[in-house]
Amino acid sequence: MVLNICCIPGDGIGPEIVTQAKKVLDRVAETFGHEMKYTDILMGGASIDACGEPLTDEAIATAKASDAVLMGSIGGDTNTSPWYKLPPEKRPEAGLLKIRKSLNLFANLRPAILYPELRGACPLKEEISAKGFDMLIMRELTGGLYFGERKTVEENGMKKAIDTLTYTEEEIRRIAIKGFDIAMKRRKKLTSVDKANVLDSSRLWRAVVNEVAAAYPEVKVEHMLVDNCAMQLVKDPSQFDVILTENMFGDILSDEASMVTGSIGMLSSASLNDTKFGLYEPSHGSAPDIAGKDLANPIATILSASMMLRYTFDLDKEADAIDAAVDRVLKDGLRTGDIFSEGCRKVGCTEMGDAIAERIAR
Ligand code: NAD
Repeated sequence: MVLNICCIPGDGIGPEIVTQAKKVLDRVAETFGHEMKYTDILMGGASIDACGEPLTDEAIATAKASDAVLMGSIGGDTNTSPWYKLPPEKRPEAGLLKIRKSLNLFANLRPAILYPELRGACPLKEEISAKGFDMLIMRELTGGLYFGERKTVEENGMKKAIDTLTYTEEEIRRIAIKGFDIAMKRRKKLTSVDKANVLDSSRLWRAVVNEVAAAYPEVKVEHMLVDNCAMQLVKDPSQFDVILTENMFGDILSDEASMVTGSIGMLSSASLNDTKFGLYEPSHGSAPDIAGKDLANPIATILSASMMLRYTFDLDKEADAIDAAVDRVLKDGLRTGDIFSEGCRKVGCTEMGDAIAERIAR
């Protein structure tokens, strides 16, 4: 299979971690008989410096012409970088908003996995972390409260602010279908999170999720109120497989789930549209404090590449091979500085990439 991948190295540690992910993908291609075709585009600060804007229309056209986008991270030190003296629409992050919008990426996926070897970094009590967890939060990304009408008015001398939360059946249906498709590739359990005891939008959410569920009899579905879900994530995260939720609830719950893993350098993510196309990137930022020092943990980006193989290309065995190589490297005691603990061997970004690539096997 020929895989046309658009790469965005980006800023800060971005180029270093994308190089490692490509190295691992190349080893996968060699092992499983595929061909990786990469086309790099500029985005963020690198694009501002070269083209005067954070993402050009030509770069978007290149991204659209590919099968998937693999991104490092963008942005600089927000206190010192000259990029942050520009107006907001010209800053690095504007590139990210533009690409998400242009590619119609409405579904955001963030896995939160507690690796047994990294249990020490989990802030939860030992009896909870001992059970481990491996969940995926699927958040609606282009609707809801963040995109509804908003205004601030003055009534009788009192200011009043109004935000509106709107979802159409279609917006709910398309992400529910994605959620169930992905649950079918995992442990076949889906928890739909809403606030149906209060909100109309949540009652519609629940009804549409139930409608979609009828086509997936193998998937066990449960509905959970968002306040309960926030508690359950710290009480017993092992109960979750896929969590499906709307934009604002997902924003908050995905950060909570990331925190309980305790390891920012390990967290991958994907944003998908209604085709197989996706943008895959680590959940962390461009870490300007450690850029260019070979200190970054490339695992979040490597695991994002694994998600790309699984969700865009349906290459599940190849994705499993990457996930297993990451497991093995952790079992073998190799650690970048961010996940280092006593008794392990500290390695740099390049050596971590090499070690994972070497462990790719059929
Ligand atoms: P950050 O995630 O870049 O860094 C937070 C801390 O975690 C830093 O100490 C950093 O060294 C460490 N860290 C992050 N990733 C790491 C890795 N892979 N290995 C080892 N350590 C790692 O967050 P920040 O400092 O708030 O933001 C820096 C820049 O990144 C800002 O310009 C911000 O806007 C941008 N940002 C970009 C994205 C994106 O590209 N999607 C996401 C978040 C932040």
